[in-house]
Amino acid sequence: VDAVLAVDIGGTKLAAALVTPDGAVRARRTVPTAVGGERDPADALFGQLAALVEAVVADAPAAGLRPIVCGVGCGGPMTPGGDEVSPINIAAWRGFPLRGRLADHTRLPTFVDNDAKALALGEGWRGAAAGVRDYVGMVVSTGVGGGIVLDGRLLDGAGGNAGHIGHIIVVPGGRRCGCGADGCVEAEASGTAIAAITGRPAADAGPEIVARTGRLIGLAVGSVANLLDLRLAVVAGSVALGFGDPFFAAAQAQLDATCRISFARGAVVRPAGLGELGPLVGAAAVGWRGLGRHVEIG
Ligand SMILES: [Zn+2]
Repeated sequence: VDAVLAVDIGGTKLAAALVTPDGAVRARRTVPTAVGGERDPADALFGQLAALVEAVVADAPAAGLRPIVCGVGCGGPMTPGGDEVSPINIAAWRGFPLRGRLADHTRLPTFVDNDAKALALGEGWRGAAAGVRDYVGMVVSTGVGGGIVLDGRLLDGAGGNAGHIGHIIVVPGGRRCGCGADGCVEAEASGTAIAAITGRPAADAGPEIVARTGRLIGLAVGSVANLLDLRLAVVAGSVALGFGDPFFAAAQAQLDATCRISFARGAVVRPAGLGELGPLVGAAAVGWRGLGRHVEIG
């Protein structure tokens, strides 16, 4: 059976697996993301990734699978197609030629996209947005990212950055964001922001912060729903899923208050459905999409 070699590159861990055409994840392996010390940390990290990928590919015959394409989700920013990546949370890679290096190493057609866009795509393929043609997928963890599927297609935008919901302003004149603006979602509702506001890790936040964070997310997705004529937001990420029901209740209440225009009324925000497999399923969807195979959404 043909499969995608799916790769998820994060600041704390690297993950790879083989993903079948119906979205089953096989031969999954993870390693912690290397931390400095080497003479060339960029190459050291790539060597670690290459070894991980080789180990997964070596498991393919026993699983009855044949990798035919490589799909990758990676933190941004990046140039379109992931030809050069500079993930904010991976200091070793600045302008790193990820797509070309992986393609050379795997000898597979290789497609790279932003990890939040990948996750959004995967949620529509096999997760909480399955069967829905118009939705926004969001990740609320250390940072805040997202991707938008409209008319069944993932939006790319001029530079490949469409769906970057973390920089919608939800608190005019609010906290300074890493992007330079004030009051972005990321500056007010990310794990990093919550820790800065409360002086404690986001996981220790009290009910007021949980509710405030939910309201801000509801405000952001409500604006997106009004703008783009969509009625579903799926939210992943350690902060959102860790906060759980009270967070989603606050987000839904704010969404109800924000989406008053007829076509957006009744918009729903719900937790992502793929859990820890979301990033790899999303990376696989990037691979299938790159090959031009239709990833069935809606
Ligand atoms: Zn910003």
